Parts: sequence; C-alpha cells; structure tokens
Amino acid sequence: MVEVQEVASVPAKTNLLGLSQSKMEAFFESIGEKRFRAQQVLKWIHQLGVVDFDEMTNISKDLRNKLKDVAEIRFPEVMKQLDSVDGTRKFLIKVEGGSAVETVFIPDGERGTLCVSSQIGCSLDCSFCATGKQGFNRDLTAAEIIAQVWIAAKSFGQLGVNGPRKVTNVVLMGMGEPLLNFDNVVDAMSLMMHDNCYGISKRRVTLSTSGVVPALDRLGEYTDACLAISLHAPNDALRNELVPINKKYPIAMLLDSAKRYIEQLPDTHRKITIEYTLIDHVNDRPEHAHELAELLRDVPVKINLIPFNPFSQSDYKRVSNNALRRFQTILIESGYVTTVRTTRGDDIDAACGQLAGSVNDLTRRAERYRRQMAQQEEAVRIVGN
Ligand code: SAH
Ligand code: SF4
Repeated sequence: MVEVQEVASVPAKTNLLGLSQSKMEAFFESIGEKRFRAQQVLKWIHQLGVVDFDEMTNISKDLRNKLKDVAEIRFPEVMKQLDSVDGTRKFLIKVEGGSAVETVFIPDGERGTLCVSSQIGCSLDCSFCATGKQGFNRDLTAAEIIAQVWIAAKSFGQLGVNGPRKVTNVVLMGMGEPLLNFDNVVDAMSLMMHDNCYGISKRRVTLSTSGVVPALDRLGEYTDACLAISLHAPNDALRNELVPINKKYPIAMLLDSAKRYIEQLPDTHRKITIEYTLIDHVNDRPEHAHELAELLRDVPVKINLIPFNPFSQSDYKRVSNNALRRFQTILIESGYVTTVRTTRGDDIDAACGQLAGSVNDLTRRAERYRRQMAQQEEAVRIVGN
C-alpha cells in the first residue's frame, strides 16, 4: 500500500497594499470580519504610512494576530533614489521577477507631480520612446503601482503628518501603457483619489494613453480622472509610423472615444490634454501645426508640446527652438491653450521618454534593436573608411 504523505501547503498571504476599498471590504468579509475594518486599514497604510499590523491601534490584538496569519503589506524594493540639481527625484524600484521600473517626482512651485509607471516595459513600441525599445515583461500589480506613490510620499515625510503635501499630482506617464493594465491601474487610481488614502483630487490625477480605444470606451465607468492622449501627429499616415497602435485604432476613432469620456463627466469645462512630442524634421513643420489645429477643432482640448528627448537607441533629434516656437504660435493663434513641457531631471535621465528601468524583456525586441544598432554602426564604419 502506498502511503500518501500530506504536504502542508501554506496558503499565500493576501497583500493588502494594492486593494481598493471594495476589494479590502471583500477581504475582511472573507475572513469573517466587518467591512468597516477596510476603512481603518486603508487609512493606516496610505494616509498614516503605517505598515506594521502591531501599530494599528484601533484594531484589537486578536484581529491583528489574525491579520498577521492571513495577510501582509508587501512592498517592492527601492534600489536607488537619485536627486537632480533641479529638485527632480527618481526612484528605481525592483519588482518581483528581477526587473525594475522607474518613478519620477517633479517639483514645480507649489505643485509636485509624480510620474508613475504602469507596466514593466511596454508592448506598443512607439518609435520615439525608450520604454518601448526595452520590450515588455509584465503588467505591474495594483500594489506595485500604488507603492510608487507611497514610497515617494514617504520619502518626503508626507505620510502621517498634517502639512503641505509634496506629492500634489499624479500622472500615469511613466513606463507602460496604462490602459493595457486596466484593472490594476483603475484600482491604484481609486486609492490615489480616496479621501482616506492620498486624497488627490480627480483634477490632479491624469491617465495618459497612446490610444487603446476599447479600454478607453470603458474608462468612464470606473474613474473620473483627467485624460491625456499621446497624439504626436495630425494625420493617420504619420501617426502610423510613430505610434503603431494607430493602425488598429486610427485618430478619428481615438478622438471620438476621448471626447465621449470627457463629455460624460459630470463637471463641465474639463479638457483632454493632447500630448505632442516634437521631433526634428518629422512632425514639427508649420503644416503639421495647421493640420493639428484643424483636426482638434471640435474637441475640448489643451495642448502640451514635448520636445523630443534623445536617447541612445534612437536617431531622432530634438526639435529646434525655432520650430518649437513656430509650432506653438500657430496653435495659440488658432485658439488653443498650448504649453511646452520643460525638460526636467536631465542629469538623472528622468525626462519624458527616457525612463527605461531594467526590463527583463520577454519580447526579444530589445535584442532586435541592439542588433540593428550594431549593424548601423558597422555600416557607418565601413562608409567612414
Ligand atoms: N503609454 C502612455 C503613457 C506613458 S508615455 C502613453 O504613451 O501615453 C508618456 C509620455 O511621454 C507620452 O506622451 C509619450 O509620448 C512621451 N514620450 C515618450 N518618449 C518620449 C521621448 N523620447 N521624448 C519626449 N517624450 C516622450
Ligand atoms: Fe508605450 Fe507610451 Fe512608450 Fe508608446 S509612448 S511605447 S505606448 S510607453
């Protein structure tokens, strides 16, 4: 007779860090506790910065012990914190599986904007983006997304004290395409905006997308945060080259969907931010500006021009100052509020599009780019000889 030996399997503990209010309530119900415990624990973690169950003093000792058995508050590890001379702070955060993502804090007077990553790398491969060139590993969990806010806020001593906040705004403009990680991004955004957590207003949390239209169509059911669209071109032919997902969801479809999102919000006067990365001799001509002005005529927008930030794997060049001013002037004269995003944190590689982290690439794209670069260098060398 074969003796079956029972192997005691230890059930995985639930990580409470990324649970939205409703998921936290469901968790407490599932362990036979009252739903209102969710509010208490959310407050301890995200408002007071306390992650040791023993310090949660409004929870009985019995329940604290029970929590220690079935739950944990688990963080990714901060590998590096870099401070720029201009006050920009970058965190390199190691996530499970060996990769690392980047989070950037950008102070600007009273405002402090945290640029948060949503995926490890990105699968969409826009031609001008360093993250895209790194390939893709996986979605970040809701815990890994909200951890970036917690870590930044904690580093400024902002948690658990009543005083002016450092992190006043959050933009999902770091590594990854947030709408391809819908559920986790929406959960993390709900924590950013929750009164018992970070309490950041809906006008100060912005999701930026390159245009995953089916997901954008659903977004309004889950959040009322601000929306930014990475447009970068005034027509489909050019946008297909720069933002390949445009071949699937072309500009007209994308703008329609964005318009529906903004128009269903209860408060009027909300505007979509149009991001337009200006690349020398690619999308920076006056004709492009005129075409853009025409394209956006019926869409409630403000426009943010981003001078392209060069990085080693790209041949593109930064727009010239003349072309940038000309482009901005045409848009302003056409009636659009048009700002230019200044480059920040240059000395610590924290500027837009430079976030590369360390992606354990599963797409082999990074390898392909490395090969291409080597071939180009070889060709240049031969021609040079
Ligand atoms: N995937 C999302 C959010 C992350 S990208 C999106 O594409 O919107 C955040 C912003 O940085 C986008 O507007 C993107 O176009 C811009 N960006 C990417 N690479 C850049 C570069 N090299 N220089 C300047 N801006 C860049
Ligand atoms: Fe991905 Fe956005 Fe970079 Fe495009 S610009 S590759 S969507 S992160």
